[in-house]
Amino acid sequence: MRFFVPTNIYIENDCVKNHADLLCAIGQRALIVTGQHSAAANGSLNDVTNVLNTGDIPYLIFSEVEENPSTDTVEKATEIAHKFNADFIIGIGGGSAIDAAKAVALLLVNPDINADEIHNAPSHPRNHAPVVAVPTTCGTGSEVTPVSIITNHKINLKKSIPHVIFPDLALVDGKYLVSAQKRLIVNTAVDALAHMVESILNVKSNLLNRMCPEYGLKLWGESKYALLLDYDCENSNKNDAIDTTNTTPIDACLYEKLMLTSTIAGMSIAQTSTAVPHGMSYDLTLHAGIPHGPAVGYFLAAYVEVCAKFVPQDVEKILSLLGLKDIEEFGEMLRKLIGTCTVTREMRNQFAAAMKENHSKLDLVPGKITPEDIDYIYEKSLVVE
Ligand code: NAP
Ligand code: ZN
Repeated sequence: MRFFVPTNIYIENDCVKNHADLLCAIGQRALIVTGQHSAAANGSLNDVTNVLNTGDIPYLIFSEVEENPSTDTVEKATEIAHKFNADFIIGIGGGSAIDAAKAVALLLVNPDINADEIHNAPSHPRNHAPVVAVPTTCGTGSEVTPVSIITNHKINLKKSIPHVIFPDLALVDGKYLVSAQKRLIVNTAVDALAHMVESILNVKSNLLNRMCPEYGLKLWGESKYALLLDYDCENSNKNDAIDTTNTTPIDACLYEKLMLTSTIAGMSIAQTSTAVPHGMSYDLTLHAGIPHGPAVGYFLAAYVEVCAKFVPQDVEKILSLLGLKDIEEFGEMLRKLIGTCTVTREMRNQFAAAMKENHSKLDLVPGKITPEDIDYIYEKSLVVE
């Protein structure tokens, strides 16, 4: 049994300011990689630049990362990092910004890798420039995982790149969630839930690495009442901009707990990787534009149901840690949080056919999953029009 997370992790209020010395010791010239608006709006970018200014560390800000970052964006940011002579990368934002930062850190010191070739398996382990991660969503845990998920639109592929890129330093502060819409908090919390469930219902799960998802699921179970309170996912506008006058009723202590849970969920998948629901989610995001958290969450209850045939005690344990009585209640909770997803019969059939060949995920199922099981998960999880 092995447990490995080489990231120096701090989780606390004013984390960036408190660990200014560690942040400034990572390198001498920084490229800061963010999404388009949120890092400036939620105070995280300001906290980081204050520290760099005080520490006399020159920096440049690349604020063009889109949701589900593309190879083109990573290539553009790498060119800018090169020209600036950056020697470390700071990713601030959700999983998209942090994943993009990791990919830039890889390409910066490996000029022979073309961004469009980034998904190809490496012939040998590759170095990368140091990465600092400051998460501002409570879902991906990318600040503590070795994974970077990048989309190549030229070949219609959304997938993790095969390189191992753990951030050197993760500075996790719940206060960056204060400006987020409840929809974003719910969507990303569902992603964290999926990470922990898929880490336990996984052939790589063992007594040692279970300490993370088991504790994290208990925390998630305690937070679920606040997530569900007065929340109607069907009537919450998907395109709401950041609006600080419309913050959620979630209190500051809960923000901290959701961030902690998300980081623990990241530590969980850093040991086992994600399983079938994540494998199924990528097509839904790529072809139907569904955000990552819900795209995974739609498949979660049916995956749990299939796994209950193989590892019923593990399923019981997950439900009891979450404070739920059965899989029906689990599915009902997810429906309240993320609603339902409608696809055409053709899409559903294409997705299922591809998933039946996705052995990197199928081989992680703790039992002999059949093509009929895959069809069942799709049938149960998606509404077909
Ligand atoms: P995201 O795509 O990073 O961000 C979603 C939206 O939320 C963006 O519009 C962003 O705006 C906004 N946002 C971020 N923080 C905010 C805040 N504090 N307040 C208000 N708005 C905020 O969402 P995500 O779910 O965190 O990341 C999803 C990506 O991570 C996917 O590509 C997924 O595949 C990947 N992922 C990676 C791992 C891993 O281990 N590496 C694991 C799971 C998923 P701005 O653009 O303005 O910043
Ligand atoms: Zn995920």
